Amino acid sequence: MMAMKVFKFGGASVKNAESVRNVASILKMYEESTIVVIISAMGKMTNAFEGIWKSALLRDKTAKEQLQAVQEFHGQIISELFEETPRSLASQLEAIYNELEDRIKNPITAKPNYFYDQIVSNGEIISTLIVSAYLQHIGVSNRWIDARKLVKTDYNYREAKVDWNKTRAQIKAELLPYFESGESRIAVSQGFIGGADHLNTTTLGREGSDYSAAIFAYSLDAEQVSIWKDVPGVLNADPRQYPNAELLSNISYKEAVELAYYGASVIHPKTIQPLQNKNIPLWVKSFVEPEKSGTLIDNNTAADSLIPSFIVKQNQRLISIATRDFAFIVEDNLSDIFHHFANHGVKINIMQNSAINFSVGVDEDEQKLEGLLNDLSNQYEVRYNTPLDLVTIRHFTPEIVDELTKNRNIIVEQRTRNTVRFLIR
Ligand code: ADP
Ligand code: ASP
Ligand code: MG
Repeated sequence: MMAMKVFKFGGASVKNAESVRNVASILKMYEESTIVVIISAMGKMTNAFEGIWKSALLRDKTAKEQLQAVQEFHGQIISELFEETPRSLASQLEAIYNELEDRIKNPITAKPNYFYDQIVSNGEIISTLIVSAYLQHIGVSNRWIDARKLVKTDYNYREAKVDWNKTRAQIKAELLPYFESGESRIAVSQGFIGGADHLNTTTLGREGSDYSAAIFAYSLDAEQVSIWKDVPGVLNADPRQYPNAELLSNISYKEAVELAYYGASVIHPKTIQPLQNKNIPLWVKSFVEPEKSGTLIDNNTAADSLIPSFIVKQNQRLISIATRDFAFIVEDNLSDIFHHFANHGVKINIMQNSAINFSVGVDEDEQKLEGLLNDLSNQYEVRYNTPLDLVTIRHFTPEIVDELTKNRNIIVEQRTRNTVRFLIR
């Protein structure tokens, strides 16, 4: 079968005209390859669309102004990329903006998550229309592909679940004949979005474009995936917090999924499984220095423990739940407690239990947590502690533990052979 690559370009790599030109130049570096290019919304456009949705929901009157700002942002990039906007691009965008204007004319009163997906998905639709037209304009022949028709999902808006059988069949049916026809070697499609049916767009959860790349790669048995980032690859810490972070040049799928799970936000946690299942190597590379090799994620575990890595999640709250009558916390209580967490959509980052106490570390979110704490308080004695940091260290050494915890007050500590975690103040 034909060897295909999947490239994913995130928001930072298409945030202005210059970065769109850079994407084109990276594609030109791979002129021998057949590539599915998955692109996110430009810059911070997903947040901007979320703002429009929120305004329509809260009936504040600024939704229309915000939509205009979004239109101007894209308009500016288009004006720098083209001497004259290609007619088909202009009319496609006009149709999208008209539809959006219609949608937000009246406040959203029902099905907020459904409306979220119908509105916010346009960030990816618009960015891919622009990039595809620009590539065409400079002579890089390509086809724009609508991911809503290929990535088939359930109706769980904002966190849709992929129907793998349908998705794989659709992606193969659309892309294999296209590439085999030799018409061109590039297809451009959207990250983050899918479709429950032909009328209902869904999204896969924030930051989901990495996952989309894995979905396409899995479906096509791609030879590799590259996700192009504003960092040299996967580092042993977030360089925004630790400027001296070091590059991990090769880690295993297992190590990558653990890092992502603990909160290393450089890769979406769902990305790894489909690639691991088909043994497809994942490269995390710099769009600033595309000739550098970056990080290779594959089956090889040899280098996993060479460099300790750490993840710091700030703004954590520790919730301590105890029985009112000094009774033990037993399975019945735990199942009831977990139920409350699930009902309020609160994700648990760390937990620990003792005889009469159950403690849980979660992301701070006053609104969500207020409801949860109210419910729990009906039955239990509930206290909390905030703001804390959750520090996770993989392949820890005494030195690194000391460095990250010195002069701090450790509230919870958990150790396994490879990982140590602290909730600290
Ligand atoms: P995208 O443009 O694809 O959406 P993201 O912003 O989601 O990219 O991911 C890249 C960012 O992830 C980097 O700018 C970096 O600050 C952050 N990051 C967090 N942890 C790590 C890590 N361990 N290694 C590299 N980058 C990290
Ligand atoms: N644009 C989406 C987001 O910002 C998806 C992504 O970029 O991965 O969440
Ligand atoms: Mg991202």
